[in-house]
Amino acid sequence: MAEGDSIARLAARLDARTAGALIVRSDLRHPRVATADLAGMRITGWRPRGKHLLMRTDAGWTLHSHLRMSGSWSVLRPGSRYPRDLRVGLGLDDGRTVAGVALPVVTLVRTRDEARVVGHLGPDLLADDPDLDAAAARLRAVPERAAVVALLDQRAVAGLGNMWAQEVLFLERTSPWRPIGGVDLPPLLARARRLLREAVATNHRQVTTGDPRPGRRHFVYGRKGRPCLRCGTPVAFAPAGHRARETWWCPRCQAE
Ligand SMILES: [Zn+2]
Repeated sequence: MAEGDSIARLAARLDARTAGALIVRSDLRHPRVATADLAGMRITGWRPRGKHLLMRTDAGWTLHSHLRMSGSWSVLRPGSRYPRDLRVGLGLDDGRTVAGVALPVVTLVRTRDEARVVGHLGPDLLADDPDLDAAAARLRAVPERAAVVALLDQRAVAGLGNMWAQEVLFLERTSPWRPIGGVDLPPLLARARRLLREAVATNHRQVTTGDPRPGRRHFVYGRKGRPCLRCGTPVAFAPAGHRARETWWCPRCQAE
């Protein structure tokens, strides 16, 4: 799932494999950047910011992308054919190609102007030293908003996707529908940061229960009607709608 931890690991992988490489061929197939040409620029690095990805070059330009549900990045071996739905193809001087596929969001900005594309984001849970007090203040700015909705607002706190938001609320024994103004945020944000950092370092499969078996990896996420792993109560589910995205919770462990 393309949550903050997945993007951080992707950025580290792309950085390790392509930082320092010279772009010799640039094929941009996204309306926002179709006329740009990155050939002649050297990739200096890849940086995650929340769920956004920034590829910087030595020419002072940053290629910004967001994967949402569909997008992916990979490095193709020399001679590989372009994948279907290619949006970004960057031929490198050693013959490999950096391929961005099905990316819904691609923009090119001056590196000094990156704030134009990521400046709206709240404190990043995966930053070295995120300001969690500031994140809490941003979350509480709309105190009546349901906790599960507030935690997914990247302008308040960046990095959580639907899976982590659901699981963190379960672990904190907090109803997803509780107004965020009534949630004890410091421990919740500290836990969210810890889980995301573990996911980047070791927990690549995003297991929250400690049990990697299928159907046992998460406490509530994706477990509609199945027994809560803590108390046995059937997990409740609300489909995506006007209140929130798809939401799962234990009505007993997370009583309103
Ligand atoms: Zn329960």
